[in-house]
Amino acid sequence: MQRLLRPRKGVPVSGHKELTAGKPIVEGPIPSELVFPMMMHSGVPAEVCVKVGDQVRIGTQVGRAPQHISANIHSSVSGTVKAIEQRDSFRGPTLSVVIENNGLDDKQWLEPLDESISAEKFFGRLRDAGITGKGGAGFPAHVKLSPRNQRHRYVLINGAECEPFSTTDHRTMLEYAPEILHTVELLRRLFNTEHNVIAIEDDKPDAIARLQEVAGDLGYKHIRIRKVHGRYPQGDQGVLLRSVFGLEIPQGKFPNEMGILTSNVSTVKAVHDAVFMGRPLVRRVITVTGPVIANPQNVLTRVGTPVRELVDFCGGFTGDVGKMINGGPMMGRPFSAPEIPVVKDTTTILCFGAEARVRPEERACIRCAKCIDVCPVNLQPILISNARRAGRLDLCKVLKAESCIYCGCCTYICPSRIPLLKDIMAGLEQLRQSEAPRSKPQNSSIQL
Ligand code: SF4
Ligand code: SF4
Repeated sequence: MQRLLRPRKGVPVSGHKELTAGKPIVEGPIPSELVFPMMMHSGVPAEVCVKVGDQVRIGTQVGRAPQHISANIHSSVSGTVKAIEQRDSFRGPTLSVVIENNGLDDKQWLEPLDESISAEKFFGRLRDAGITGKGGAGFPAHVKLSPRNQRHRYVLINGAECEPFSTTDHRTMLEYAPEILHTVELLRRLFNTEHNVIAIEDDKPDAIARLQEVAGDLGYKHIRIRKVHGRYPQGDQGVLLRSVFGLEIPQGKFPNEMGILTSNVSTVKAVHDAVFMGRPLVRRVITVTGPVIANPQNVLTRVGTPVRELVDFCGGFTGDVGKMINGGPMMGRPFSAPEIPVVKDTTTILCFGAEARVRPEERACIRCAKCIDVCPVNLQPILISNARRAGRLDLCKVLKAESCIYCGCCTYICPSRIPLLKDIMAGLEQLRQSEAPRSKPQNSSIQL
């Protein structure tokens, strides 16, 4: 029997996944106008490569990556370029291509490839198709998956999906298991890796069973499906690497610099479609959910669809909306304008009622040390928060605030309702903006 792989710390959060976990993926709305922000990934923004009046098809490139750490952007509908202008996006006001949909769904796919491709051709295809991480960070896949300095020895596919409410990865594993396994087998053969694991939390037994069954049917003996403990933030890349392989990624390093290839399961499905079907990343599954959504669902959505249309597709709001979040409740970011378009790394649209406007009253720290106990990267959140509030950015540095993975466990667990993550993020932002003083920090007088 397999040992259950546990994260070292973290918190047991309530999943709320029952709202959508049992619902099959459905085809989403077909908007009349779609918006493609040139910044929908990590790295440098794409450059617009169409002009107003141009005719486009599904798969036509509308944004070109100007540098290695950037990503191409493609239209998800056929129609006419109506405007090129600043629009609101999840990453702030961004130059965007606005396309009027002609409803014809004409397509312009790339040439499909097969298993015999070289690694070079593989990375070229990921770049051409604009594949970026679908787990939330949107890092370009041709950068993240390429070996640096040494050959890959490990493949770790992340099916942990630990954020409450989100079920996009869960449904993708259930409904696209052959595509996921086929692609992992391609990675294994391309890089001749020794350890190939798809890690899934133990609260998704149906996904574990499905992938095991398909791996057996397809004869993929070198891919292991590993069950990991369902404790937040198990789906964080660093936490999962530690749980599955016992590997630590030093601060400032990327897994591919250490011979480890990591990817989210939904990204693997996008890689499959790009390589074997020639399809750029123009659609993705989004969980639309929360207490005020009439019919929460997992929706196969065209990139560029305004949130409002997606919510209407799910029956609209059932009452006053107090908070909308791009992502889950732990790591997601609130937003207010429903005209904002969903993009390649939008996993979840989560909507709460009026009660979410009420901010819990902050009280004094009771020195319980719970925030320290749960931090998966061994930080001392209350000390960083105190340092930031005292204007001691030098101490934030000494306390290694840069190692924070923004999981929010400290804020979640704090009985005094101190917004620790918010403080840490504000401190990090100030640190980035400041000309960091190189002088040695003075002794700290800040204590628990
Ligand atoms: S300090 Fe950062 S990494 Fe640690 S629990 Fe808080 S949010 Fe998570
Ligand atoms: S900040 Fe909150 S969790 Fe941390 S020691 Fe103080 S009361 Fe406890």
